[in-house]
Amino acid sequence: MPVSGLPPYDDANIFARILRGEIPAKTVYEDEWAFAFHDIAPQAPTHVLVIPKGRYCSFADFSATASAEEIAGLFRAVGKVAKDLGMEADGYRMLANMGQHGGQEVPHFHVHLFAGRPLGRMIPAG
Ligand code: AMP
Repeated sequence: MPVSGLPPYDDANIFARILRGEIPAKTVYEDEWAFAFHDIAPQAPTHVLVIPKGRYCSFADFSATASAEEIAGLFRAVGKVAKDLGMEADGYRMLANMGQHGGQEVPHFHVHLFAGRPLGRMIPAG
């Protein structure tokens, strides 16, 4: 069910619970700013989510209110994860859904990383 992606932040969302260690995740990477883990329902041979450790509802919230260090930290982590998982040779896609029309379902900002096969058009027809 899509969400608005707008504040207030919901501390009960599933990625907040993963960050608090209440729910297990298949961890790929972690540093001061970011946490990366495998998507539970992968839509490509490799499908990883990279999230900031801070409480941000969506890209809209993150881009407007996160510090420069948090923004740099998150995007450095996205690039590092893609590189470390060997995605660079054949390429990959990063994607962030925001709000209802974006199809965002979890109200904690996350970047999807997809790789492992040709990924087709940016947006499916229809
Ligand atoms: P979005 O539609 O952009 O909000 O994407 C949410 C993503 O979170 C989907 O691809 C889900 O498969 C994924 N997801 C939901 N719950 C979990 C979980 N517990 N662990 C890993 N991925 C999850």
